[in-house]
This record gives sequence, structure tokens and C-alpha cells, in this order.
Amino acid sequence: MKIILLGPPGAGKGTQAKLISDEYSIPHISTGDIFRKNISEKTPLGIEAKGYMDNGQLVPDDVTIRIVEDRLSMDDCKIGFLLDGFPRTTKQAEALDSFLNSNGQKIDTALLIDVPREFILERMTGRRVCPTCGASYHIKFNPSKNEGKCDACGSSLIQRKDDTEETVKERLDVYDNQTQPLIQYFDNQNKLSRVDGTGDIKEVFQDISNVLGAV
Ligand code: ADP
Ligand code: AMP
Repeated sequence: MKIILLGPPGAGKGTQAKLISDEYSIPHISTGDIFRKNISEKTPLGIEAKGYMDNGQLVPDDVTIRIVEDRLSMDDCKIGFLLDGFPRTTKQAEALDSFLNSNGQKIDTALLIDVPREFILERMTGRRVCPTCGASYHIKFNPSKNEGKCDACGSSLIQRKDDTEETVKERLDVYDNQTQPLIQYFDNQNKLSRVDGTGDIKEVFQDISNVLGAV
């Protein structure tokens, strides 16, 4: 299965991606996670990406496309993959199409997790993440068992720097201007599927399983 997850920041893509990747045994490829790992390791890519991310802007297309093509070229992606947070621009979507075409592959579906704007701010400002293993929680909707500590590895949870109210608003504008047009892009290719992302995590996953079962 080759899946793209679409949706605004805070829609629940990362949360559902983890569940889908476990269920279908396919790698979860999050460009945001790749950038954050590079930032914590202070690589040249991380140093370049940090300025854009902290301000809620997109990392330039050429850099982002290159890291995704490198990742998709790895052996574990032969059986399928789940892209979370990529593509985010029409240029990225076109580059992905031509990369897959040249390898005789195609996307099975671009799955939109539909969440209206009024839900987003609370989801993002309440998000807490584990800096060690990347697990993600929400102070109200998906709390860890021990407050402030990761269930999986026990590390202290942190708030992402780009999850402050001001940066979230910027990221939503970037989404509206640059990423939202991809909904039409994949619809034109008859690749778009949608789920309502306003239910709880289990309900959304059930809907996603139903949609993927029919693809
Ligand atoms: P994205 O990857 O799309 O930015 P996340 O998966 O990180 O979004 O989810 C954003 C925040 O909302 C997280 O704190 C997560 O725990 C929480 N969340 C995810 N799905 C739901 C849901 N269905 N209902 C309520 N909160 C959710
Ligand atoms: P995410 O973890 O998906 O919320 O992404 C966090 C940040 O990483 C975004 O706000 C961007 O700055 C950057 N980023 C992630 N994916 C992309 C992408 N496909 N194109 C450009 N920038 C990206």
C-alpha cells in the first residue's frame, strides 16, 4: 500500500500514521520527523531547516524533495509506504509523481483527514511530544499515563517550538495557500479519499481502516 496522508497541521496525521503503519507494516515517512532529527543532530540539513520550521514556513522544495526521494529509494519502501507531511506544495506533488512513475510505481490513495480550523488550535497547542522516541500526546485528548512523561520510554515530554499560538496561525495560513490546493490535485487524479477527523482517535482510525480496505 502506498499512501499519502493529507490534512492541515494538527489534523492527526502523525497519530493516525503510527496506527496505519503498524497495521499495514509499512514505513511511516514524516518529513517533519526527518527535519527534527536532523535539527537535534545539528546536521547541515537540520541547520538549514530550523529557521524555516521555527517560523512556521516550509523548508524549500528542492531540499525537501531530495530527502524524500532518498528515503523512498530505500529497500523497506518497496512493499509500500505512508507519507505524512509530504507533499505540501504542487511542486512536491509533481516531483513525487514523476519519481514514482520513473520507478514504475504509483500512489494508491491520498487520504485527507478533514478537520475544520476551529479544532486545530486546541489540538496543536495541547500537543506534547517525546524528544527521545518521537511519541506524541495531547494534554486533554491523549494524555500520557504519567503526567509529563513518555509512556514508551519515560523521557520528559516537551512542547514543540512551532506549536505556539502565533506559529500555529502562520502554519495554517501556509497550509491554506500552499498545501490545500493538493486536495484538488489528487481529486483530479481520482486518488483522493476523505475521512472526518473530528471524532476521537479510535473513531478516526476505524474510518481510515474502512477507506483503506476499499482502496
Ligand atoms: P499532525 O501530524 O497532523 O500535525 P498530530 O497527529 O500530531 O497531528 O495531532 C495533533 C494533536 O492532536 C496531538 O496532540 C494529538 O495527540 C491530538 N490528536 C490527534 N488526533 C486526535 C483526535 N482524533 N481527537 C483529538 N485529538 C487528537
Ligand atoms: P510537521 O511535523 O509535518 O508538522 O512539519 C513541521 C515543519 O517541518 C513544517 O512546518 C515545515 O517547516 C517543515 N516541513 C515538514 N514537511 C515539509 C514539506 N513537505 N515541505 C516543506 N517543509 C516541510
